[in-house]
Amino acid sequence: MTYAVQQNDRLTAEIIDLTHDGAGVAKIGGYPLFIPGALPGETVEFKVTKTLKKYGFGKLLNVLEASESRVEPPCPVFPECGGCQIQHLSYDGQLERKRKMVRDVMDRIAKLPDVPVHPVKGMEHPWRYRNKSQIPYAERDGKVVAGFFRSGTHSIMDTETCLIQSTEADVVMRTIKHGLHELGIKAYDEHKDKGFLRHVVIRTGKASGETMVVLVTRKRKFPQRDAVVSLIQGVLPDVTSIIQNVNDRKTNVIMGDETIPLYGPGVITDEIGGIRFEISARSFYQINPDQTEVLYSQALEYANLTGDESVIDAYCGIGTISLFLAKKAKEVYGVEIVPQAIEDAKRNAEVNGFANTHFEAGAAEDVIPRWYKDGKRFDVLVVDPPRKGCDEHLLRTILDYRPKRIVYVSCNPATLARDLRILEDGGYRTKEVQPVDMFPQSSHVEAVTWLELN
Ligand code: SAH
Repeated sequence: MTYAVQQNDRLTAEIIDLTHDGAGVAKIGGYPLFIPGALPGETVEFKVTKTLKKYGFGKLLNVLEASESRVEPPCPVFPECGGCQIQHLSYDGQLERKRKMVRDVMDRIAKLPDVPVHPVKGMEHPWRYRNKSQIPYAERDGKVVAGFFRSGTHSIMDTETCLIQSTEADVVMRTIKHGLHELGIKAYDEHKDKGFLRHVVIRTGKASGETMVVLVTRKRKFPQRDAVVSLIQGVLPDVTSIIQNVNDRKTNVIMGDETIPLYGPGVITDEIGGIRFEISARSFYQINPDQTEVLYSQALEYANLTGDESVIDAYCGIGTISLFLAKKAKEVYGVEIVPQAIEDAKRNAEVNGFANTHFEAGAAEDVIPRWYKDGKRFDVLVVDPPRKGCDEHLLRTILDYRPKRIVYVSCNPATLARDLRILEDGGYRTKEVQPVDMFPQSSHVEAVTWLELN
């Protein structure tokens, strides 16, 4: 007999699993309930907040028996803020968890139970690691609020600090919040589509110490522009670029098309593994600089280059992995869909003296088949796609032209496993997987996979 779970029920249950986004899973008469903040092995008391046909949600009330891996989350807005999901799990527990998540999809989706998934390479100090923050601003009760969205909503949790972002970002976040109020500048009101400041994006070059502040505004006309610029310079003398980005659309996309420099060169520099990179406001750049070096070194190791290889870096961003590879390869061809990132990549290759690189803007699934049709041949292919994984057409091109080695850098184990199955069926063998923790305290998992043509 199944127990019919009702909304508002107060129940006690044992947590048997953790979802990929960090919620505890309990089963009542076979009916799964997701309870954020609860950990596997714990017995908890919770209130049912929502019931759907196949599963429901609960709010954690009391931990009756705590997991040995439970720690006190240091952040005051955890777990309501959606930024981190597993601060309440010890860091060792987080790393173990992430390895298990990769193992699980390798077994279940890729059907590769024998492929080794190594222990996750983690950080020594898994806090304050982000070099980029994107902070939404809003008006609430006549006051400017700023912080991060309450999990699963568009309601901002007014926050003074975020423990995974830089202290510079904390200072800028607070200063602009209090400063706008004093200057009488309104933050954006999403419902009325009114107000001025939508987001502040802060980027720091860890190696260079340079900081870029991007003010994303609804209109181009900037009231008291100079006062806002001085306000930022006043609290952060090291700020090297201040930029206005205009986004007048009703959209969740943070940045609009128009970028206006207010101060400085409009780019920041950073260094990874002895290579210097220039990064512009809208280009993708890995957010955890310490772990980026670990990630790229792993990709380079799996690429196993001798100096004779022609290599593709698909989804190359500003050419970071490309230049890592170019140190050891005959030549590297990079492709990326954002034209500005390709401009950065070309400049970065030039500044670092890499003449053996070629970059092209476009979709990987369009550009790579064209390179092959033009007669180019490649020995090694590195892919680092966004969460949705590799495009089907790109996978088909790989199976048609069969480069002998593939290194797959992935930020989403589920699509990685899906793509590995396709590549396996097409004749590749997955050798091993090395997860790297790019996002401590969050449930995101990054992994590097090595494949060889059979
Ligand atoms: N390898 C880079 C970037 C990885 S993020 C780094 O480590 O920094 C994934 C990148 O893929 C982003 O820069 C995104 O703009 C790009 N992208 C998304 N879809 C694409 C497509 N269809 N073809 C090429 N690039 C794409």
